[in-house]
Amino acid sequence: MTKRIDNFNAGPSALPLPVLEQAKEELLDFNGTGMSITEISHRSTAFDEVIDTAIARVKRLLNLDDNYSVLFIQGGASMQFCMVPMNLNVAGKPVDYINTGTWSTAAIKEAKIQGLDTRILASSEERNFAYIPYDVKEDGNAAYLHFTSNNTIKGTQWAKFPEPNGVPLVCDMSSDFLSRTFDVKPFGLIYAGAQKNIGPAGAAMVIIRKDMLERTPKNIPTFLKYTTFSENNSMFNTPPCFVVYIIGLVLKWLEETIGGLKNMEKLNNEKAETLYSLLDSSSFYRGTADKDSRSKMNVTFRLPNEDLEKRFVSAATKAGLEGLKGHRSVGGCRASLYNATTIEAVKSLVQFMKDFEKKEG
Ligand SMILES: *Cc1c(COP(=O)(O)O)cnc(C)c1O
Repeated sequence: MTKRIDNFNAGPSALPLPVLEQAKEELLDFNGTGMSITEISHRSTAFDEVIDTAIARVKRLLNLDDNYSVLFIQGGASMQFCMVPMNLNVAGKPVDYINTGTWSTAAIKEAKIQGLDTRILASSEERNFAYIPYDVKEDGNAAYLHFTSNNTIKGTQWAKFPEPNGVPLVCDMSSDFLSRTFDVKPFGLIYAGAQKNIGPAGAAMVIIRKDMLERTPKNIPTFLKYTTFSENNSMFNTPPCFVVYIIGLVLKWLEETIGGLKNMEKLNNEKAETLYSLLDSSSFYRGTADKDSRSKMNVTFRLPNEDLEKRFVSAATKAGLEGLKGHRSVGGCRASLYNATTIEAVKSLVQFMKDFEKKEG
């Protein structure tokens, strides 16, 4: 029996065990082809079925109608930072952004590089992004309103999405995509780098509404146009076949084993409550995000000093609890509780934290 540890990595991160087991099972012979998924042609009916089934599952999970296209685009979420303003800007209109941390800041930078009239409607920078600026006033004149639904590094998450006043919402959902239910109607575009919650690194999933596709300008590179992907079922060139395949297995697990996003959300709430209630009852551990802005995906916390934090992280690793070091830009500790992280793993972490506090506190 292979030893699996409890994985709290921020990305790439844990995948559901049944997904890894099925991938292992099928690696030498995918679906009776006598080849692995990475050895078959992306122009084959076998691969068509993989990508079409994955798209159908996302559409069912999010209740998407035919007004939305689901795309797989190489380059991760960072590529979307530049593709969004390039494809969705409208002459004479500003583009609006909300700045809630490192990734929002990176997205804003790309809009500015393109010389667009980039308005920052709200920001939580003055308090080191420890909260979500819920009070957003959109005047309704922008081409789109961009925000980051979950701030992977700062440990904050929008509990309630900003009110767009008729402007299409554009969202970087990389680190909480498919972790909860939400209404897609106000969204013109949603993107998510796969490696946080839905699969391996190497692609972003993009959900785009038809009226947004119609904005695609003629004079940008072919490969950077959303229409290039929508018109070719994400196979203008060779797609990241293995990534799409694993995403498909994760979606199957979400639908058939978990039973959809409502159930997933319930499990994620339970996991987050388990860890936050420990933080709230302790004076040794201190959460870094404001309570109304806490992320259910990335729980960020500090110990009394950096030396203790170092010892905490290394003792945890020894105990089979991996990935608890905070992002290098902020320090401290972070436990990422993505969909694939089990409640049992979270309970083991809480027990470890209690023991560590007793010994060191
Ligand atoms: C990780 C992350 C990114 C960057 O993703 P890449 O796929 O590495 O480009 C962007 N936004 C958010 C919210 C993230 O968590």
